Amino acid sequence: MISLAVTCAECGAAAEHEVGAVLVDPDALDDAPERAVYVAMSLTCPSCGAVDAHRVAPEVARALEIDDEVVRAGRAGLSDGTPIQTVSEGIELLRGRAEQNPGDALTWRALGNFAMRSGRAAAALEAWGRGAEIDGELECALNVAVDAVEREAPDAADRVARALERLVHAQNERRPLQAAYVAELVRKVGAPMTVVVDGDPKDASTIRDWSRFGEALAIATRIEVKR
Ligand SMILES: [Zn+2]
Repeated sequence: MISLAVTCAECGAAAEHEVGAVLVDPDALDDAPERAVYVAMSLTCPSCGAVDAHRVAPEVARALEIDDEVVRAGRAGLSDGTPIQTVSEGIELLRGRAEQNPGDALTWRALGNFAMRSGRAAAALEAWGRGAEIDGELECALNVAVDAVEREAPDAADRVARALERLVHAQNERRPLQAAYVAELVRKVGAPMTVVVDGDPKDASTIRDWSRFGEALAIATRIEVKR
């Protein structure tokens, strides 16, 4: 962590933020040093509450020492290279793409993943929730199920059931891990359910060997949940 001095573009207040990841664009340091620093988490002004309205003074930007752990050299951008100045800008761009293609689960997944990496859990869960509504989308459904189980939400079992049924859509290389993960969610949620794996019904309350259950899920061609 380093302490980064900023001023707020909304109210002008100065603040120091403890940040764990900063990207400095060496090319911008000379021409536009105020645009050279990207903070990988959203910053909230302690005076007025504005989010991501922070400005880094040119002398502060120039004084940042690249250590490749907290301060790295590079240009902030989305995975397709679109440059961004703040986390909020990234979220807005990705949300705009998702809303233009609301039936494309990949856009919601990208938004959710970016938001979660950037410390915006509420925005992430909202995006994954939208993605999880799309048929066959496993990744979003899995993230939403993990959250519901952790919160002990009333609909946690439904969300786990949805993730279970979508395991068959997993990418091959990710599937063993995701299957083990979902098996663990079934154990944790502890709700009555029967998981029919390739026609073989398993009553969740009678499962003792959860790793074997996960292995069965990893190779199944049909998974159906009865509740
Ligand atoms: Zn402010």
